[in-house]
Amino acid sequence: MDETIPRKPYVREARFWSPVAGKPGYVRCDLCSRRCAIAPGRFGVCGVRKNARACNRRRP
Ligand code: SF4
Repeated sequence: MDETIPRKPYVREARFWSPVAGKPGYVRCDLCSRRCAIAPGRFGVCGVRKNARACNRRRP
């Protein structure tokens, strides 16, 4: 499973997320009302937001 964000110009570190208490590595996406708890390396329900371990691109 890919643990890093691919080096592509349209992929970057996300905003609007937080860690999930009691679930190490999980993140809570706060972008929409679905508020997915995303496991490491997996995508949210939308298929757009991914919980990647590391980001190799900088924010603009
Ligand atoms: S559906 Fe997508 S945008 Fe909405 S909370 Fe889940 S991952 Fe985030």
